[in-house]
Formats: sequence, C-alpha cells, structure tokens
Amino acid sequence: MIPVFYRPEMSANTKSFSPSSNKPALAVADWIKCGLSVDVVSFDPATEEQVKRAHSPAYVDGIMRCELPNGFGNRSREVADSLPYTVGSMVAAATHALEHGGIACSPSSGFHHARYAEAGDYCTFNGLMVAALEVMAQKPGARIAIVDFDMHYGDGTDDIRKRLGLQKSICHIRAGLEVDEGMGRYFMSSMTDMLLSTRDYFGRAPDLVLYQAGADQHIKDPLGGLLTTAEMKRRDEYVLQSYARWGVPVAFNLAGGYQTDEAGTIEPVLKLHRQTMEEATRAQGFYRQ
Ligand SMILES: [Zn+2]
Repeated sequence: MIPVFYRPEMSANTKSFSPSSNKPALAVADWIKCGLSVDVVSFDPATEEQVKRAHSPAYVDGIMRCELPNGFGNRSREVADSLPYTVGSMVAAATHALEHGGIACSPSSGFHHARYAEAGDYCTFNGLMVAALEVMAQKPGARIAIVDFDMHYGDGTDDIRKRLGLQKSICHIRAGLEVDEGMGRYFMSSMTDMLLSTRDYFGRAPDLVLYQAGADQHIKDPLGGLLTTAEMKRRDEYVLQSYARWGVPVAFNLAGGYQTDEAGTIEPVLKLHRQTMEEATRAQGFYRQ
C-alpha cells in the first residue's frame, strides 16, 4: 500500500490553463477507481511557521491575505485557502517516508517555480522546500535530494536553496535544465548518472528523496515533448526501484501535466500519474529485500 496524503481542501477551482489546482481530487479518485493499492491518509495543514522557513514572511502574509498575486496571477481567496493543504500534504508525505521508510505520495503540484518571495508559473508556495526544511528541523543534519523530473526547471527551488545557503544539505537534480524537447533518448541514458549523483553529492545515500514525477515530460504534452508513455513508465520504475534498493525513502508528488483528450478531460495526464502509482506500488516491495 502507498500512503497518499490527501484532503479535499487541497483542490481549488481556478479557470486556468493549468489543471494542477483541481488535480489532487481527480488523481486520487482515479487511483481508487482503478483499484490501485493506495491508503488515503488525512494530515494537518502546513502552519505559517513552516511555510515561512522557506519564504519571506512578508510574502507569505501577502499571499494569505490575497494582497499579492499567486502562481495563477490572481488574488483568489480559494487558491490561498488551498495552499496550507497542498504544502501540508507534501510535508506529511516527506515526514512519513522519513519516519517509516518506503514510499509515500502527495497528490500535489505547483511547487517548484515558487521563489523565496515571488510566485510564478502556477506555483505559489514551494512545498518541496517547506517539506525539506521540516525534515531538517525534525532530523538535524538530514541530507535531502530533490529529484525534479518535471519538464521544466525548478528555478524557485534553486532560488530558495541559494538564498538560505542550503546547497550542502539539499541536492537538486534538475532535468528541466539538462534536457529539452526531442532529447528523450539522452534523458533515458543519463538517468543512471543523475540518480548516482545524489549519492556522490553527499558521499553517502541521501536520508530522503523528494521526487517530482512530472507528467509534462510526455512527448504529447503541449509544454513537454520528451518521453513516450513507455519511457515514462521506465523512468518511474527506475527512480523508485533504485532508491528502494538503496533503502532511501521517497516522497513523490505529481507536478506538471497539461494534456487533455477530445472531451476536454485530463485523462491523458491521469493515465501517466496512474503509471507512477503502479510503479510506486511495485517498488515498495523492494525495500524489504
Ligand atoms: Zn512543468
């Protein structure tokens, strides 16, 4: 079973090109409907104190009071209200994986472009960095690797890492910076080096991996163009089974994905997230060997 840290408050209705604000509910419903081995678990929303470890306090206040534009470029109360839940879900998945080992899931998106004091590209608060900082508060000296296999560069993650001087304790694998449209074969052949580099970075295996299993790397994604469906499955299998064999706990989330079908639903995106969950379920068994 994969614990999935989900609450309905994570979703918000936004009229945006990005489906990310509605995706948590749709992805979890899809996994249950398809009979995947998931255990839906509730969690506490992120506190202001937790969010302000990764962001400027004035920025956090401005967002929560709807005075500053969020990642969707509006000042929606509904989006602001959902943020402690999307971030809290990532924090809960990360701390659960650290404590219990194995794989945990946060069905969240919209983190990696959020900078220290600025939202961008559908991202408002950087749940990856808030989760990493919570883990480091609970386990001082923890070494964390953020393996970001979204199509795009997690510039917000790097901004916060640099501003807070966290380069030594947080390793950041940035596929979005290394590969572009049409470079699928190169990406697949580079994966071994990318995953091994998270061990070389610290001179030992990381204590925790936060894996952004972005669906927008798909070859048909309007913002993607990298991997076939089969390659995406191999990507997830490779990442999750590698860390399972090394005994490194993983908390993964959904990140980007912008395809729609003829009926206008995000079924093509849900299919890719379903693959990731299937691979997570299989990899979970490798921890005990
Ligand atoms: Zn993306």
